[in-house]
This record gives sequence, C-alpha cells and structure tokens, in this order.
Amino acid sequence: MIEFENADVTYPGGFRALHNVSLTIEQGELVVIVGLSGAGKSTLLRAINGFVPITAGSVRVNGTEVRGARESTLRELRSGVGMIFQTFNLVHRTSVLNNVLMGRLAKVPRWRSMLGVWPAADKEIAIQSLERVEIVEKTYIRASNLSGGQQQRVGIARALAQQPQILLADEPVASLDPVTSHTVMRDLRRINRDLGITTIINLHFLDLARSYGKRLIGLRDGELVYDGDIADVDDETFRGIYGRALTPDDLKEGAEL
Ligand code: ADP
Repeated sequence: MIEFENADVTYPGGFRALHNVSLTIEQGELVVIVGLSGAGKSTLLRAINGFVPITAGSVRVNGTEVRGARESTLRELRSGVGMIFQTFNLVHRTSVLNNVLMGRLAKVPRWRSMLGVWPAADKEIAIQSLERVEIVEKTYIRASNLSGGQQQRVGIARALAQQPQILLADEPVASLDPVTSHTVMRDLRRINRDLGITTIINLHFLDLARSYGKRLIGLRDGELVYDGDIADVDDETFRGIYGRALTPDDLKEGAEL
C-alpha cells in the first residue's frame, strides 16, 4: 500500500533529509519509526502525503505516484490519510465536536462547513470517533479546557473522522507525561487492530517503541538503517540507529538503563 523506492527528499535550501529510502508497508500494518531528532522521521511521514519534495526515486500510495503528483491527486490522496501531531493542532476556542468535524472537511460541501451546518451523518461519525478514544463526554467542551492527553485523543478522533486508510502520527506523545503516553499509544494500537488502518508512528522513546511496535524502522541521517521485527531489536541495534549509547532521555519513563 505504501512503497518507497530509492526515494530522496531534498529541501529547497539543498538539504537532503532522506536518501535512497526503500521500504514497503502493507495494508493494516503498525510501524514505528525511530531515530534521533533530525534523522528524517517527520520528512518520511510527510513524503507519504506529498508535503515535501520527493527529488529522486518514487513514493507510491495505493498505486498512486506521489512524486510530481498534481494538486488534485494529492488532495484525493490526503483525504484518506489522517495526521496526528505532537502539539495536537486543535482550534482551542471551539468545541471538541467542531474540532473533530474538521476531519470531515474533505467530504462535506464547503458552504456547509463554513456555516457550521454539518450533516447529521457527519456528526454521527464525529461522535463515534470520540467514543473510540473514550472521550465522548467532552463533546461539547471547549478544546482549551482539556488536558494534553485529552487534546491528543481529540486529535486522534479528528483523524478517525476522516475514515482514513492510513494514520500518520508524528511524535504523538512527545508532549505528554509517561502515564498519558501509554494511554495514547494503547489507543493507537487498538485502533490499528480494530479498524485495520495502516498506522505509522514516529517515536523518540525506545521503551514505547518496544512496548507498542511490531515492525521497527530506524533512520539515521536520512538513511534507512534498520527495518525488521521489533522482537529482534536489542540495545546494540538501537545504538546502531542512534549512533551513540542510549541515555535515560531515550526512554519515556526516564528509567535507569
Ligand atoms: P526528525 O523528524 O527525525 O526530527 P525531520 O524530518 O524533521 O527529522 O528533519 C530532517 C532534517 O531535515 C533536519 O536536519 C531538518 O533540519 C531538515 N528539514 C526539515 N524540514 C525542512 C525544511 N522545510 N527545509 C529545510 N530543511 C528541513
């Protein structure tokens, strides 16, 4: 479903953030990507929906070539890809429901969403999405009144309301405390299992990667340096990906190594 073939991403300033990346992700997989800050994790996610310039090789999503794709093709592709962000990206001054309905924007005529006249079916999808992350009791609360963990669950519900085939989560727990991080990771794993949505999660924390990942992809300086089952990964592998010994900062719990 997602296929990188010798793909490069070089940013306009000339910095090559991904180099010669080849990988295939099948429908329904849960993949965790690890690497130091600046390794290219976020660039790799954004290559999937064409938000960064793919300058060599190819990236195909459901058979559609992303490199050089037209705006209309990218719009269609993006409507099937839900994004989850480190900083949640909610509109704080409006309700949880309105935030989740934003996930329906691509599916609803523009005038309706601008007037806030959402079809009942879309509201129903939004409520179901909130139920799935167990936060439906906050439906009519202003987003600004939620804790970080609750905001991230709304962020996940918004992505689910898109009814996506692919979920891309860019450091979804980097701003959360350890307990909340586990809750959010469990939500993502449950959604992947229950709905079969292909899920790719960028993570900085190795203990979370170990607990929730199945397949691990390691990036170092824009190159793919590991791709395999997480059960086969040991500290030596992580050292290879990070290019240095592990430190407590690499763990969400900040535990002793
Ligand atoms: P990660 O998610 O692993 O922290 P990123 O994909 O965000 O890494 O960034 C990889 C590299 O690309 C970094 O060195 C970063 O500074 C650079 N980079 C990211 N976005 C841009 C951009 N829009 N223009 C130029 N360089 C960028």
